[in-house]
Amino acid sequence: MRSATTETDMAKPFASSADMAPKTESFEILADGVYALTAEGDPNVGAIEGEDFLVCFEARATPAAARDWLARLREHCSKPVKYLVLTHYHAVRVLGASAFDAEHIVASSMTRGLIEERGQEDWASEYGRMPRLFKEPDGITGLTWPTRIFDDNVTIELGGDRGRIELQFCGRGHTAGDIIAWHGKSRTMFAGDLVEAEAALYTGDAFHFDWATGTLDKVKSYRAENIVGGRGAIARGLPATDAAIEQTRAFLNGMIAHVGAAHRRGGTLREAFEATHAALSPQFGRWPIFEHCLPFDVQRLWDEYDGIDWPRIWTMERDREVWAQLQD
Ligand SMILES: [Zn+2]
Repeated sequence: MRSATTETDMAKPFASSADMAPKTESFEILADGVYALTAEGDPNVGAIEGEDFLVCFEARATPAAARDWLARLREHCSKPVKYLVLTHYHAVRVLGASAFDAEHIVASSMTRGLIEERGQEDWASEYGRMPRLFKEPDGITGLTWPTRIFDDNVTIELGGDRGRIELQFCGRGHTAGDIIAWHGKSRTMFAGDLVEAEAALYTGDAFHFDWATGTLDKVKSYRAENIVGGRGAIARGLPATDAAIEQTRAFLNGMIAHVGAAHRRGGTLREAFEATHAALSPQFGRWPIFEHCLPFDVQRLWDEYDGIDWPRIWTMERDREVWAQLQD
């Protein structure tokens, strides 16, 4: 039951717009020349050393935020960044790209298409949802465009005895164009937002049914010893990497069960949201950005049940409409 008294006081702040508390960052060395930085549920980044160069994964939301990460990385390695790999198109992971001075910016061809189609809207939407990540937003030089694209997979030879990095499209998931990066020598995977370790999933642009089945099966088939997911702690050791994948799948399957049930019985979007929120809160409610993500997640899955295959574009206006419909 809702109290009639303080509607304004009870309304949740939009998305993460009120979350301005800085996070503690953890720099980790996973193997010789394999680095990652996590930040209590903020987007993770990483890097792998080649013999003469660095490969960096994800670019953060702004060049200033990227420079903070690079300063930490430069305490361990001074090689130039030859490749900046983007696992997908979301603004908080790509708009800092100019700070890397990378020779090549690598992404899937589908990711390039999504930047073309909705990059500008996504920038505005994500800035509104999570302003804290956009340190010195005026420093963004424009949309980030990949300079090298591929459809299914591509290999980066690291030189010396450092092995290689395989970039692989595993199926539609968090977006239509996510890729993972696999370093077989250290059995490390940078999974982008396809896997989250104890952080809520953002599925507003996702393909829930593909992601929860074939895509995660393919990710799991690598038997990674380390998984750097999109957010949350690094999973280390096979039991932990399997757990991170299965937590991700459980979140998706929980949404599929409860949104699906509401849709089948002819319920409303709001009923689907409330049932899903109640069902997922005990297991996932304390994870970072759960409250932020769930309205957008439920809306997208509802669309999938309505037969809308291609995710609708989020704009600042549509963000606020969905939020007001479900959270106020
Ligand atoms: Zn994402």
